[in-house]
Amino acid sequence: MNAHDPRSLHPTIDPPQQTQPHPGLDAELEPKADLGLDTYEGHGRLRGRKALITGGDSGIGAAVAVAYAREGADVAISYLPEEEPDARKIIQAIEDAGQKALALPGDLQELAQCEKIVADTVEAFGGLDILVNNASRQIWHDGIENIPDEDFDATMKSNVYSAFRVTKAAIPHLQPGAAIIFTSSIQAYQPSPHLLDYALTKAAMNNLSKGLAEQLAPEGIRVNAVAPGPVWTPLQPSHGQPPEKIEGFGQQTPLGRAGQPAELAGAFVFLASDEASYVMGETLGVTGGTPTP
Ligand code: NAD
Ligand code: MG
Repeated sequence: MNAHDPRSLHPTIDPPQQTQPHPGLDAELEPKADLGLDTYEGHGRLRGRKALITGGDSGIGAAVAVAYAREGADVAISYLPEEEPDARKIIQAIEDAGQKALALPGDLQELAQCEKIVADTVEAFGGLDILVNNASRQIWHDGIENIPDEDFDATMKSNVYSAFRVTKAAIPHLQPGAAIIFTSSIQAYQPSPHLLDYALTKAAMNNLSKGLAEQLAPEGIRVNAVAPGPVWTPLQPSHGQPPEKIEGFGQQTPLGRAGQPAELAGAFVFLASDEASYVMGETLGVTGGTPTP
């Protein structure tokens, strides 16, 4: 018997109070997040594919980038310019896996940047097979009356507009067998009162992925989503949660602990791979036991 107990496979973290400026750095997280760098083993499941992952510098996107590269894909990551130190580490990990890497710094609130990251990936890799719409901004506020209009706008642009625009730019380049994956959230189903704007963007990811799945299935392009529960990433302590919610983060889940980014990679690999050839319009929950309807 070589099975591992999911309760203890990763430690139950109890992070100290901490705050970083948005967007936050993986390098500054305490304790460190597990991106799978020491553990993820590839099995050639994405051999020869070309992937673009938004927000691939840190957290879930970084774990997915590492896994995709070790499964044999070339991987482009987009991120904000201030995240360069995190991005460098992931670019190195992709290259260490023997794959091509492409770094795409820039703000996805801009239409031109959304179009540029697709064009640059296609040019560098000679095509695109997998798009992961994962970049998101999460800034907590104490009630709707305290969400400034500019903040609401920035969250919509970073999360919804960017996913829509990057996807729209990517579709003309996708061939049958390609996959699009959106990162949703448990927040799509159970919105927290202090994350009203963010939560609605995550519901939008589910809705967009399901409608688009139906549109693109006849063309042999699969569209799905992943809905994570609480995962230890820089999103949380960079104004993603009130400081008191950082202590004991994720311990309210049925499993009793927060997830690590490395625990999300398998879902994204599965949905991108041929093993998911009959899976479309699905949202795969990876929540530590909190039900997703
Ligand atoms: P993260 O901070 O490591 O990743 C988010 C990334 O989004 C950042 O690294 C940044 O590069 C990118 N980003 C944000 N705004 C951007 C902009 N305007 N332009 C370009 N890039 C921008 O955090 P994470 O938790 O790994 O987040 C990844 C995804 O997972 C997000 O879609 C988030 O909504 C989702 N998610 C996270 C959790 C969690 O508990 N951490 C739970 C559910 C869903
Ligand atoms: Mg980051």
